[in-house]
Amino acid sequence: MTETKTFGIKGMHCASCAVIIEKVLKEQRGVLKAEANYGTEQARVTFDPALILLPQMSSAISQYGYALSARDNTGDVNPQKKAKLAELGKIRLKVFAILPLAIISILEMVWDVLAQSGYMPEMPKLLARIFWAYGPLAATLTILILGKPYFLGIWRFLRYRKANMDTLIGIGTSVAYLYSLAIWILGKRLSGFIDINSTYFEATIVVLVFISLGKYLEARAKMKTGEAIEKLIGLQAKTALVLKDGQEMELPIEQLGHGDIVVIKPGGRIPVDGEIVTGQSYLDEAMITGEPVPVKKQAGDKVVAGTINTNGSFTMRATKIGAETMLAHIIKMVEDAQGSKAPIQALADRISAIFVPTVLLIALISLILWLIIGGAYLGFGKSLSMGISALVGILVIACPCALGLATPTAIIVGVGKGASEGILVKNAEALEFLQKVKIIVADKTGTITKGWPEFAGISLYGGMNETEALSILSSLENKSEHPIARSIMEYGQAHGAIIHPTESFQAIDGKGITAKINRVEYFAGSERLVKELGLQPEADILNRETERGGTPVILANREKILAIVFVRDQVRDGAREAIEQLEKMGLRTLILTGDDRKTTAAIAREVGIKEFEAELLPGQKLERIKELQKSGMVVAMAGDGINDAPALAQADIGIAMGSGTDVAIESAGITLLKGDVSKIVKAVRLARITMRGVRQNLFWAFFYNLLGIPLAAGLFCPIFGWMLSPVFAGAAMALSSVSVVANSLRLRSAKL
Ligand code: ADP
Ligand code: MG
Repeated sequence: MTETKTFGIKGMHCASCAVIIEKVLKEQRGVLKAEANYGTEQARVTFDPALILLPQMSSAISQYGYALSARDNTGDVNPQKKAKLAELGKIRLKVFAILPLAIISILEMVWDVLAQSGYMPEMPKLLARIFWAYGPLAATLTILILGKPYFLGIWRFLRYRKANMDTLIGIGTSVAYLYSLAIWILGKRLSGFIDINSTYFEATIVVLVFISLGKYLEARAKMKTGEAIEKLIGLQAKTALVLKDGQEMELPIEQLGHGDIVVIKPGGRIPVDGEIVTGQSYLDEAMITGEPVPVKKQAGDKVVAGTINTNGSFTMRATKIGAETMLAHIIKMVEDAQGSKAPIQALADRISAIFVPTVLLIALISLILWLIIGGAYLGFGKSLSMGISALVGILVIACPCALGLATPTAIIVGVGKGASEGILVKNAEALEFLQKVKIIVADKTGTITKGWPEFAGISLYGGMNETEALSILSSLENKSEHPIARSIMEYGQAHGAIIHPTESFQAIDGKGITAKINRVEYFAGSERLVKELGLQPEADILNRETERGGTPVILANREKILAIVFVRDQVRDGAREAIEQLEKMGLRTLILTGDDRKTTAAIAREVGIKEFEAELLPGQKLERIKELQKSGMVVAMAGDGINDAPALAQADIGIAMGSGTDVAIESAGITLLKGDVSKIVKAVRLARITMRGVRQNLFWAFFYNLLGIPLAAGLFCPIFGWMLSPVFAGAAMALSSVSVVANSLRLRSAKL
């Protein structure tokens, strides 16, 4: 038996940390799969609980400076958030305590540079002497206060051969510091060998402060990306008013059981999923479905946890509690999706994995090259100084932080934004595919139409009266779950139909149903079904209704046609506008349906879809999707999921359309809680906006590293005289991850 669980990770600093954690976890006996995510600071592990448990996994990574913790399954983020906030507070205190030193150092360096180029007078002797002492003192203080994680990084590298970003910064700053210290202590005695006029104390201070400040800002912004999930968790009521022995008692929701009767007062929050027993009201379901208009609910109607009662009051029976509620499922799904990896990230991961060792190597090579090539022109002292500067600059600028943040932060924000609009995303892959979609295939019933057909008339043949025909039809449909069955049953019940016992009921895929009543075999279904029995329904009657969008349900036995019933399904609100929007966005739309061809043509015309294929069996829908895929298209299929499961699964991305809050989520890549077609438009926009954010982030992260490394190495120095000082490298490095997170946060306010 294996289990897949998501754990929180402590101690992560960068994408290369994720690589280390994944690798170490995978090496453990009993761990089958491990995925660490720097964006969410969570690990998803598939493991065999008989061989390994959380404490062992946590201790396996603890020597590298990380720890795993169980996620609170009640969904209470507060303890985790509090711990995070406390940690942030500490970092802030340290950074701001050292900040003045960094500012003084910068001013000093600026003066120095300006004085060298004659824009400012030389520093007065006394001040220069003060700075001579200030440099090593301030740098030592900075290292003592801010340096710990970086020196741990070096230590782990030496001890376990695992390098992460901290290792790079640690090596970079300590080389700069030690080199400077040697000059400072030995001074004149070295003057024959090296350039004693340039030390890197100030650079050490500024780099450490910038990087710590960047980390602080990044962590703060990262907390904001998780706001959507906090909102969802905040929807959970803490207590419920339960009716026990005629008494109302306020109980914590953990104590609620199935079947408990809960009293909901005006303005109250629904604590668990259930059914209204008495009373009625309008419920605000916006927080779940994104639908702003309150929905009327009365006895027998389903209500879901997290929604809010307006002004009526009612009692409800709890049917789903704790982790079973729709809200709990949504929260879990959003959390999982936020922690999932988009395929586009694979490249970034592969690069991060080899990044740190590669950069160490490049830094070393550039130092050596400076000594060899630079030495020939500039002399050993000058070239060593330049080489050290290059080494430090490269180590500092080359951190893959931004690269690690690029995809996950955008995905977290995008998935969260979707959830707040009633668009549930199963994983990052779904968003990535949806953004690439070229054609949206829609099932007609329940997707383009409301999926609640209304009875539109009956014609009788063969001497049966209406009640008899309705009784037989209702008896057959009683066993079916098709939307057509629902409407016929409803009408039958209201018109005196009697339900007879049936035998050998069978659904004939895509055509109808059959069953025996009193040993007589009956069929109900499409024109095609009865034609296959060798019967010929009257064309006039069929045409008249199908041309208006009605669907015929023909009742027959083996000998003759007994009745033709028509049901008519209304087109969903806003379907026409939504289709128009999709076309404007450059997407093809196509209806695939098992319904009558003429009926479908009428509906397609009504909503403005030009392409449709009707009278398809479920297997044929599947084939059509495969064909579209073979022609190189990324296909999305939107369906109600009732009998389109194979086609939904075959499509590159399945879009499940729920009506209201009554849906089985987790079934498709994208679930639209209030299954309006306009939501498909929004979902595609969400995918496009999110993935654009990801690509922008990746571009900047790569671009900055690609440009930063040669610049810091001094590759452009001989030609243009450009060389990135370690100070700028530190600033650029901090700026790059902060800007990536800021760009992701920007997605929150994008309009869908
Ligand atoms: P779709 O999901 O594309 O609407 P289905 O495969 O569900 O198509 O059904 C195709 C056709 O089969 C329906 O339009 C109807 O004519 C017939 N049919 C299916 N199930 C039933 C049923 N329970 N009663 C009557 N007709 C049915
Ligand atoms: Mg269907």
